Amino acid sequence: MNRIRVAIQKSGRLSEKSLDLLQSCGLRFARSKDKLYWYGKDFPVDLLLVRDDDIPRMLLDGVCELGIVGENIAEEVMLESGEGGGMTQLRKLSFGGCRLSLAVPEDSSITSAQDLDGCRIATSYPALTNALLARRGITAETVKFSGSVEIAPGLGIADAISDLVSTGTTLRANHLIEMEVLFESTAALYGQLDKLSPEKRTMLDRLLARLDGVLLAAESKYVMLNAPRDAIEEITRLLPGAENPSLMNLEGAPDRVALHAVCREAVFWEHLEALRGAGATAILVLPVEKMLG
Ligand code: ATP
Ligand code: ZN
Repeated sequence: MNRIRVAIQKSGRLSEKSLDLLQSCGLRFARSKDKLYWYGKDFPVDLLLVRDDDIPRMLLDGVCELGIVGENIAEEVMLESGEGGGMTQLRKLSFGGCRLSLAVPEDSSITSAQDLDGCRIATSYPALTNALLARRGITAETVKFSGSVEIAPGLGIADAISDLVSTGTTLRANHLIEMEVLFESTAALYGQLDKLSPEKRTMLDRLLARLDGVLLAAESKYVMLNAPRDAIEEITRLLPGAENPSLMNLEGAPDRVALHAVCREAVFWEHLEALRGAGATAILVLPVEKMLG
């Protein structure tokens, strides 16, 4: 069957953005009634909607060729199963950002990761936590929790926790202090590329090219402005991530030109102010929807 399957989270923090991303690559799906399997309409790419924790295993077992999941979960499963089993990170994505941090009770005598040697740490990510601590020469005992890790110290089950944090509100509510960040995570696209047929390989490459176009477009802007002819060089230098701008004559103003450029980095107010300082006028910044080539 020459169709590619992509697993994404069914409902949770990554669901909407994962689906949006695939849709911006031009994928359309026929939503099935049970909502677990969506058939790809004009591209042979189907969607599997599952729990995020199941995605790495599905990739390793060859149930799907692609999956979007947090690096926290992917790393944990790859470490657990040893060597990753052919599962590869293809693209890091810009959503699902969080950090795996060590936290201790407010009144704890533990003040740094080094103090955790020989201690008990409650976590949903034992393999990742152990690996990150081991890199720093720290050996602790991990106790696996599937959820509500933050209650473990209060119950006397652990001296510390290693858990995902984004704002820190949950930690504070449980009288825990974030001590150290162990791992910064975002969502990422993973692939199981072993034994891919040449047809699937071609499809995958086409999909990745579109994805790169979407990712690049997301951070790019199209800038149009009018500039004094003798300031073109300086203005080009002031445009963030721009190469080879297009220049057009302005009717009736021989000493000025219209300059258009794609900026491949974020364009801030400070950039615009600097451009105006260099003599640019009528500065317009437009979003870029798609890019290819
Ligand atoms: P599921 O039902 O699919 O198992 P879940 O409850 O395990 O869902 P979510 O809470 O939706 O998962 O989190 C999914 C992913 O979002 C996490 O694995 C992590 O990569 C990322 N994430 C971003 N911010 C946070 C956060 N503050 N806490 C937890 N995860 C976060
Ligand atoms: Zn989960």
